[in-house]
Amino acid sequence: MKRVGAHVSIAGGVENAPLQAISIGAKAFAMFTKNQRQWRAPKLTTPSIDAFRKNCSEGGYKPEYILPHDSYLINLGSPDPLKLRNAREAFIDEMQRVESLGLCLLNFHPGSHLNVIDEDKCLQLIAESINMALNATKNVTAVIENTAGQGTNLGYRFEQLASLVDQVEDKTRVGVCLDTCHLFASGYDLQTTAAIDTTFKEFDRIVGLGYLRGMHLNDALRPLGSRLDRHASIGKGTIGMEAFSYIMRHPAFEEIPLILETPDSDQWSAEISLLYSLGK
Ligand SMILES: [Zn+2]
Ligand SMILES: [Zn+2]
Repeated sequence: MKRVGAHVSIAGGVENAPLQAISIGAKAFAMFTKNQRQWRAPKLTTPSIDAFRKNCSEGGYKPEYILPHDSYLINLGSPDPLKLRNAREAFIDEMQRVESLGLCLLNFHPGSHLNVIDEDKCLQLIAESINMALNATKNVTAVIENTAGQGTNLGYRFEQLASLVDQVEDKTRVGVCLDTCHLFASGYDLQTTAAIDTTFKEFDRIVGLGYLRGMHLNDALRPLGSRLDRHASIGKGTIGMEAFSYIMRHPAFEEIPLILETPDSDQWSAEISLLYSLGK
């Protein structure tokens, strides 16, 4: 079964995320586990965790259908030693929050070299950060997201994702999340069935579809290769419907969270229905 959902809100507490997911007809969801603009947050309380689990089981959301996202402040490849240390501490804290909720995935953007160090050095720091976080936790898989390649963000080429996976010691707890908008912005064509097929075959050859733990389904506002991270609603952008039809029909995308991060949350329910209609 395809598991389509959206990145829902935790306003009022994490326990509200599965309720919003249910209300839009989602079969998966993404969420932050704390305010994503802050470095620190109080620990999750037992009542909040219990309510979260109860609401997840009511919605039929198993841990592998829930894709928490870390804070955008964290740069796991920071060239500044002090900032790197803070980022690693914050990332371990995020992994532990995920674990305390009984979940098993944490989605994050790899990191940025800020034009201070070269790409390989930055990838090495990121991989070290992932290894540290995996050593500090037991059950959470680090899910690396491909990026649009905006600014000095790494993870916009499959070779960079593969280099990270290669350098992670515990291969059973590293995965990848592919964002369609980021793929397209970074130059991977998704406009025709032939182009989409080539893109995913290349991903399979360089990284491996077996590492895929989730997808972000977003149309793009800008043209192919823009290197700009601007999401559009499904069917309202430059990618077009072919890519979403392909994903909704292809067996490689079964039973993993397929998450909308499209700009208009009022449209999520309609977008989820639209995506399911493409899979029929
Ligand atoms: Zn994304
Ligand atoms: Zn994005």
